[in-house]
Amino acid sequence: MTAQAQTKEFQAETRKVLDIVINSLYTERDIFVRELVSNAADALEKFRHVSLTEKPEFDAHVPLEITIDCNDKKHILTITDTGIGMTAAELEANLGTIAHSGSGKFLAELAETAKKDVNLIGKFGVGFYSAFMAAKTVKVQSRSWDGSQGHEWFSDGNGSYTISVCDGLHRGTKIVMELKEDAHDYGQKFTIERIIQQYSTFIPFPVKVEGKKVNTVEAIWTRAKSEIKDEEYTEFYKFVGNAYDEPLYRYHFSADSPLAINALLFVPKDNFESIGLGRMDPGVNLYCRRVLIDQHSKNILPEWLRFLKGVVDSEDLPLNISRQSLQDNALVAKIRKVITKRFIKFMEEEAKNDAEKYQGFWKTFGIFIKEGATSDYEYQAELAKLLRFESSATEAGKMTSLEDYVSRMKEGQKEMYYISGPSRAAVENGPYVEMFKKRNIEIIYTLEPIDDFVLSHLGTFDEKNLLSADRADLRLPENTDKTEQEKADDAGKEKLAEAVQTSLCKWMKEVLGEKVQEVKPSSRLVDSPAMIVSVGGQITSTMERILSSQNHGKHNPMTMGNKKDMEINPASGLIKKVADLRVKDQDFAKELAEQIYDNAMIQAGLLIDPQQMVSRNYRILERIAG
Ligand code: ADP
Ligand code: MG
Repeated sequence: MTAQAQTKEFQAETRKVLDIVINSLYTERDIFVRELVSNAADALEKFRHVSLTEKPEFDAHVPLEITIDCNDKKHILTITDTGIGMTAAELEANLGTIAHSGSGKFLAELAETAKKDVNLIGKFGVGFYSAFMAAKTVKVQSRSWDGSQGHEWFSDGNGSYTISVCDGLHRGTKIVMELKEDAHDYGQKFTIERIIQQYSTFIPFPVKVEGKKVNTVEAIWTRAKSEIKDEEYTEFYKFVGNAYDEPLYRYHFSADSPLAINALLFVPKDNFESIGLGRMDPGVNLYCRRVLIDQHSKNILPEWLRFLKGVVDSEDLPLNISRQSLQDNALVAKIRKVITKRFIKFMEEEAKNDAEKYQGFWKTFGIFIKEGATSDYEYQAELAKLLRFESSATEAGKMTSLEDYVSRMKEGQKEMYYISGPSRAAVENGPYVEMFKKRNIEIIYTLEPIDDFVLSHLGTFDEKNLLSADRADLRLPENTDKTEQEKADDAGKEKLAEAVQTSLCKWMKEVLGEKVQEVKPSSRLVDSPAMIVSVGGQITSTMERILSSQNHGKHNPMTMGNKKDMEINPASGLIKKVADLRVKDQDFAKELAEQIYDNAMIQAGLLIDPQQMVSRNYRILERIAG
């Protein structure tokens, strides 16, 4: 330092800012390192920029980097960059005044914000002052890229600062902080490394702590896709996803307008939620120009995409936006929408390109897509295209999309059908699919409990209603291509006379009482004697089963109003016999009617009273055996 140090007062507002910053909560004090390293990176970026046009000669060979020295004995932290530097006038203008302040409102807002979230300080363009959160005194030695004389700015944060000539400097800026007693941590290499890893790993210049480069992973998402090798992607995935293997899919995209977004997303191979590790944290981090804003961000993607790993970077975001304000930031919402839609589209295309690979994805992560389809109305229609189900047209274990189902729909078929069951075999042998088989109409098998919720939530696909086959009001399209043999078979099956059907139904309803709303002759059953159908159509049998099981086996209040009918098959041998017995042996006929009801309930996957059923069943067996 030379003798002619000039002492200057901070601009009044700057003094207040300092006051606020120094006395604000220290919960996130680490962020001062991020602020200073970001400033250093900005300065390097600016130098890179001028050197393109100006071809500076002074210190032209000095490498572009950030160097951090920790003196744990003297408790001094030094951050040096070889960036654009500052002249004396710039030191004064940039560090002594607050350019865009002007009003008391600015200060009031800053004070309010600092109380709530120190993280936000940089938003006000006052990031530099955060150095005083940890430092007693701050020295800024700087020399401009133009080679003019170097200067030192010095302050203890108390109202004034000095600027003096400083010789022997290279291009760039050195910030020397004498740490406060309670901030000695920041004189430790270990602490600084940790903070750099957390916030500044992807700074596009080497950051060296005690001579060792600590930001070894490159921010590859900012590079052109064509220039990035597969191994580089994998390497990056391992870093960002804490992974040891390769990702299943990767999606890298860049957009300039309407928003500047770079996103690099990975689908991992495994779903750790499914192996019982509990609910995952989101795996995508949010950056602004390679500086971390929000780790494991809850805001940048919808919750159901929490299985993704990767980064989203947008230059349009303010660097120092806080977590709370990310939540209701309109820009973040826009970015989220763009990325989510693009990602869904990407998966749709991947599914078309390699259906088998997609099926692997579906097995592992389909549950998240279903979660989205039932919980996130915004993307429901798009997500429907990603859904996969087994159906009567697929082989066991193979799946179809709803789109493919539509492409196979018969002429005259206006609706899409599904039926649930615990397994493919159970569904195929149950009463509900008989007419579908007979009429050769495809029916989707919803074999996972959540599937019924998904399809009933969707309601429609491609403007076609999605209907559960256990609905009472189902009307199947006529079979237009019946063979002569089938027509003959239909004619040959003798049904009960209509009058007998009517009286039998009435009697059965009396026997079953409140258990059913109505007993009706069926136009859908082929072989089975009876089936249970839901009236109202909102809650399918599967949904009722799930809701009941959540309610410890008792009927769930949500399903109480869900009325059921029993349809009986007037061509079934058993039904005909019951009609006969009703006249000859009323009591036994009643037992049979109740047993038929219980059997139909079992086939619908619904609750019955097993004790009562088994006792009755033994009575029936005894009678037959005797
Ligand atoms: P912001 O970065 O938002 O502009 P800061 O308070 O962090 O606000 O910094 C104020 C100004 O000081 C910067 O805009 C920049 O012009 C200057 N500055 C800070 N650090 C450096 C540095 N390491 N090299 C050159 N200029 C710097
Ligand atoms: Mg800054």
